Amino acid sequence: MAIRVLVWGENIHDRENEIVRGIYPDGMHGAIAKALNADPAIEATTATLEQPEHGLTVDRLARTDVLAWWGHRAHGDVSDEVVDRVAERVWQGMGLIVLHSGHFSKIFRKLMGTPCALKWREAGEKERIWVVNPSHPIAQGLEPSFVIPQTEMYGEPFVVPEPMETVFISWYDGGEVFRSGLTFQRGGGRIFYFSPGHEVYPIYHDKNVQQVIKNAVKWAANPAPAWTTVAVAANVPTERAPEPLSQRGPSLHQPGEEGFR
Ligand code: ZN
Repeated sequence: MAIRVLVWGENIHDRENEIVRGIYPDGMHGAIAKALNADPAIEATTATLEQPEHGLTVDRLARTDVLAWWGHRAHGDVSDEVVDRVAERVWQGMGLIVLHSGHFSKIFRKLMGTPCALKWREAGEKERIWVVNPSHPIAQGLEPSFVIPQTEMYGEPFVVPEPMETVFISWYDGGEVFRSGLTFQRGGGRIFYFSPGHEVYPIYHDKNVQQVIKNAVKWAANPAPAWTTVAVAANVPTERAPEPLSQRGPSLHQPGEEGFR
């Protein structure tokens, strides 16, 4: 079965800004989904902020293996209820790819537990992305480094927890560096943050960027069973301990008592 990807876009710059509209007539989410759908192993659809429940209903998320997220101006307009719902799905095992200014999204900050702040400059300068983990699945099919001719600078320090893996580090014309491709795991869900993607440059049309996102989808699609079915928080009655207990101390619970805590 194909990997079911949902590409979520804020869809504000895409509609309101003439430059962005010119580069992405179907929105950034549309361009990303189209690039992903060129791979027969992936089945990508889109959802946007203005849809009911931001297009992220319980049912839709239940049918999503990997969610990709692009937001910038309206992070605060995303409902907390939907954010909690997305976090729950990540903990269960849904993959999450957070793109560019999504570093400040409610969902990314919630899952990281840190401010996720960084330095930035919008000057249309050059970015060279270095593959620092060439054996990583997300780096496959890429040269040792590749260039994005015009980009927004994102600079260190990037206030996230120490990542599980650092896949890419970017260097900019102005001298800064940035950990531009990082992996995390929260519960059963794999998370990839990828920084390129400023809206006024055609970055999601770039073949290398598309390759990275495609690789990330395949990496984040977790075939393991959902955590809710294997890691439920439940009391284990004394008589059901895997080994017979050799001794028992005082307890508030009665023998044979079960239940969820
Ligand atoms: Zn930007």
